[in-house]
Amino acid sequence: MKVYKFGGASVKDVEGLKRVADILANTEGNVVAVVSAMGKTTNALEKLVPKLSVVEAEKILGEIEQYHLALACAVKLPFWHSVNVELERDFRELRVFVQEFNSENYDERYDYIVSMGEIMSTHIVSGYLKGEGIDNAWVDARHVIITDDKHRDAKVDFTKTQKQVKAQMMKAAKQNRIVITQGFIGKSDKEHPVTLGREGSDYTAAIIAYCADAESVTIWKDVPGVLNADPKKFADTVKLDHISYQDAIELAYYGASVIHPKTIKPLQNKNIPLFVKPFGDPAASGTCIDADSSPLPVPCFISKIDQVLLSLSPKDFSFIAEENLSLIFDCFAKHHVKVNMMQHSAINFSVCIDGAGFNGLTHGSTPTGSPQMGLLDELRENYRVLYNDNVELFTIRYYDQPTIDKLTKNRIVLLEQRSRYTVQMVVK
Ligand code: ASP
Ligand code: MG
Repeated sequence: MKVYKFGGASVKDVEGLKRVADILANTEGNVVAVVSAMGKTTNALEKLVPKLSVVEAEKILGEIEQYHLALACAVKLPFWHSVNVELERDFRELRVFVQEFNSENYDERYDYIVSMGEIMSTHIVSGYLKGEGIDNAWVDARHVIITDDKHRDAKVDFTKTQKQVKAQMMKAAKQNRIVITQGFIGKSDKEHPVTLGREGSDYTAAIIAYCADAESVTIWKDVPGVLNADPKKFADTVKLDHISYQDAIELAYYGASVIHPKTIKPLQNKNIPLFVKPFGDPAASGTCIDADSSPLPVPCFISKIDQVLLSLSPKDFSFIAEENLSLIFDCFAKHHVKVNMMQHSAINFSVCIDGAGFNGLTHGSTPTGSPQMGLLDELRENYRVLYNDNVELFTIRYYDQPTIDKLTKNRIVLLEQRSRYTVQMVVK
């Protein structure tokens, strides 16, 4: 069995649906196709999570509904009817979640609302394929991907999930050859819908592949494969034909946006190759990620913008050792702040963190739950805190001096760290 993943950009319009159909029609053997929400639907659904007035919410809901109904028009009769019935039910459910579901827990409300994007998308994709004569089974990932109840970042229970993948997906694939299911979503042990973190559909594909012992995973993208740098930011990028699991996980972790960082582990654990292929040119070779550990032929560089460099020193002049470090990390964990790079000396701790929502960090982080003290306020109780915001973090794997010079030209390097294969720099 193969696992395919089609992202939101691949199913954003009728052109995309046609390509998905072509790719699936030309694939031999059983396939589980993991599909994301269409286009920018997840972003639109996120806007419905804070409580809005009925009029405001209806405006956003109406736009999402129109977009999906228009795409559903590409579904041929007689399947068009059933897709419309399903979408009607999906939107009825979504309206109930938006207007009547008043969970105390922001993240729980988020998961109820935002998970509907993938449900609607897969109803259309499945119906479209049927209309084109491609038989398939629609499987609800909320009955297969079983997790804990950490909303928006749910942790997968692989034992329970494997049982469901076998009982539902593999069985359906045997009968219908093609299974259409949702990325990004699952169900908690309390039977509530959950999500696996933004851009989590790649991870879903890897989970299913792991549980089904699939022969491979292919992520279909709007790029020729994995490049050595982001082509939107740098000229002269090179496509990489092959990447080891180890390099891939390092690059993804530090922000190469082509693959979700959680995707690699399940695949590495079962030695399942991952292909990243261009959606527009299915015959092209793309990039293969597997256990072959040969180093990359060129330096690979990734930039993470919108970073904040914090510098902490204990007010009581105590060393930055185990006790202070654990206090600091508890504080980061509590505020959901991700650490991207760190360095310490006797009484100083420098740390580069994601700056998105930095206002939340300074004034209490409303998006993730009950009002609380901001990260900085809390740190300031025990530490002198300085910060530089709007800095950029560069990670270069297989670095060389010309690449470092190119990236740091006319910039100030605030922090630098080198290991044998990787250099990281925070620059202003
Ligand atoms: N639809 C979700 C998102 O946009 C998951 C995904 O696309 O991978 O984040
Ligand atoms: Mg997406």
